[in-house]
Amino acid sequence: MLGPVDAADRDVHAMGRRLRVINDRLKEEYGGPRWHAHGPPLDVLIGTILSQHTSDTNTTRAFASLRARFPDWRDVAAAPASDIADAIRMGGLANIKAPRIQRVLRVIADESGDFSLTFLRELPLGRADAWLRNLPGVGPKTSACVLLFSLGLPAMPVDTHVHRVSRRLGLIDADCSAEDAHAVFRELLGPDRDLTYALHLNLIEHGRRVCKARSPACHRCVLADICPSAPTGDRSAAP
Ligand code: SF4
Repeated sequence: MLGPVDAADRDVHAMGRRLRVINDRLKEEYGGPRWHAHGPPLDVLIGTILSQHTSDTNTTRAFASLRARFPDWRDVAAAPASDIADAIRMGGLANIKAPRIQRVLRVIADESGDFSLTFLRELPLGRADAWLRNLPGVGPKTSACVLLFSLGLPAMPVDTHVHRVSRRLGLIDADCSAEDAHAVFRELLGPDRDLTYALHLNLIEHGRRVCKARSPACHRCVLADICPSAPTGDRSAAP
């Protein structure tokens, strides 16, 4: 039986067990998403850049518009930035994202000799991550999106929901930044891609529906009895 986290639980194996219990409960609640490839790695990278500060719907529309107008990434890199911005306008921050996308594409072509990231499939996680994070404007979250959603590697993208819920659950320290949390999750999750994928999606779902930023609904949370942030009364109320 797991209780709220305490100092002794910070042992990586104990935390790994806690994480699996959390994942099982969230899967019961929201379903057990199964990993599938979300597209070629370069598509996922550009899609992730487009997703910054906008909704999933707007990201999908902006990506579709860009691909319809420029089916070849080579043409995206060569076009005037204003044409790229026009194509992705519905995704927001178009004048910032357009030159960012072009810069990334040009560096990829310079470094790898092609407008493709498929060579990353041959690299182990650490080297693929390092390669991606050398690209201009690519941080640990964007890299983890490519690694997990396209390459099927066990990297946890830590967005605002994953970061908030994980801190409240004691999976990461209260003062651990979202950036630093990527390395913590890598240690906790080990090589389990399917666990990483399911936990990522369900922590986001839990953050949107229950463990909201301003007012977490601990009284109806399936994790309340093992969550150190739950009020004492709610800890005993959960199953
Ligand atoms: S008990 Fe409250 S703080 Fe903890 S995960 Fe659930 S909603 Fe969030």
